[in-house]
Amino acid sequence: MTQSNQPTFDILKKSILSQPRMMGTIGEEETTTFLLDFLSQNSIEAYTENIEWSTASVNGRKLMFILLGLFGILINFTLRIIPPTNGILSILLIPISFLGLMLFGKELKADKFKCLGKSAIGKNVICEFPPIRHEEVKPTIIYLTAHSDSVASNLPKFYIKFMIGMFFGFLLILLLTLVSSIISLVYFFRDNISTNLAIRILNVIILICTILVILIIISNMFAKRINTSPGACDNGSGSAILLSLAKFFKEHPAKNVHLKFIWCTAEEWGLFGSKGYVKTHKQEIVENKDNSYAINVDMVGSELAYLDKAGLLKKKPINTKLNVLIEKSAEELKIEARKFNSPIGGNSDHASFKKEKVEVCCFLAKNDTKIIHSKKDTIDLVKPEKLEDAVELIKNLVQKIGNGEIISKD
Ligand SMILES: [Zn+2]
Repeated sequence: MTQSNQPTFDILKKSILSQPRMMGTIGEEETTTFLLDFLSQNSIEAYTENIEWSTASVNGRKLMFILLGLFGILINFTLRIIPPTNGILSILLIPISFLGLMLFGKELKADKFKCLGKSAIGKNVICEFPPIRHEEVKPTIIYLTAHSDSVASNLPKFYIKFMIGMFFGFLLILLLTLVSSIISLVYFFRDNISTNLAIRILNVIILICTILVILIIISNMFAKRINTSPGACDNGSGSAILLSLAKFFKEHPAKNVHLKFIWCTAEEWGLFGSKGYVKTHKQEIVENKDNSYAINVDMVGSELAYLDKAGLLKKKPINTKLNVLIEKSAEELKIEARKFNSPIGGNSDHASFKKEKVEVCCFLAKNDTKIIHSKKDTIDLVKPEKLEDAVELIKNLVQKIGNGEIISKD
């Protein structure tokens, strides 16, 4: 029998990894079974770890947006009361609303609002390959992560663009409120009580922005999570890539590195699988943070791309060393791998490791983000050669780390 020249694509095409498998549905269990069976058929010892996931962060986000809308309404109200109260109250509301929302978001990310949703138990699938030989005292640990769950939204096109629109819309409201309040106060203390035209125009613009932001918030209230996305790209692709890599490293053990493969569950509900893993293995992760790397594969589809800088207002480089190595590997192997920046690209399983100061990288097919979380995320979207490229690139990356070729950008 001849070996297929697209083994990773075959894994994806023939398995549950290109079928709907939202958390809490039958597909979730089928995925765990498939991953364990695949690994066992390749004589790889794998195990599962239970993690608690919940719908709270998704519900909490909706609540946070409602809070944002309420702040918007309050600002419009305070702008219309008599001076100087309008100016003083509006200026006070700016830091209060900004800090209030930031704090709410931070607590939400740390899963502090469990009461807002339902909890359930999910399973991470894990396997490891200790190094065959290590010249160093402690081998370098490489965590390879990919989330195995899929999800769809009934408003798939809505989410990212509108959320960014809402965020910047709200910032604009705060900024214009500040300008309007200052002008209003200056006029008041100069004893000029005539309504300034500039203030009136500004307040109308603030009102229009608030109405638009509230419309986005109301539509978001109707966004529901459903199980209609085959999730072949997001993230059947990454899960299949990790399976191929595990198979390879079982047959060709890596030198000087301890590989830990984690198929993370419930990523789509708030990175629960990776957060749970980091929590369970916190001591090891913290102790080895300077000598470990996390490679996250959150979708390869029509392209092979990786995150360079992420951040809403200020974009920060995701790492200092790994991307240099990715670029070098891609060049050597003549593989096309595109670097990109993203306002929200930091939000995948690598983030849980980054929080513990582990050097991380993330492969993500940015061009395909417009079709994910919908029925359109099918196997037809995934280019077989891109999956094989990703496997070759990561093999090379692991070998380079093992050989101590890691270099910093600066
Ligand atoms: Zn994903």
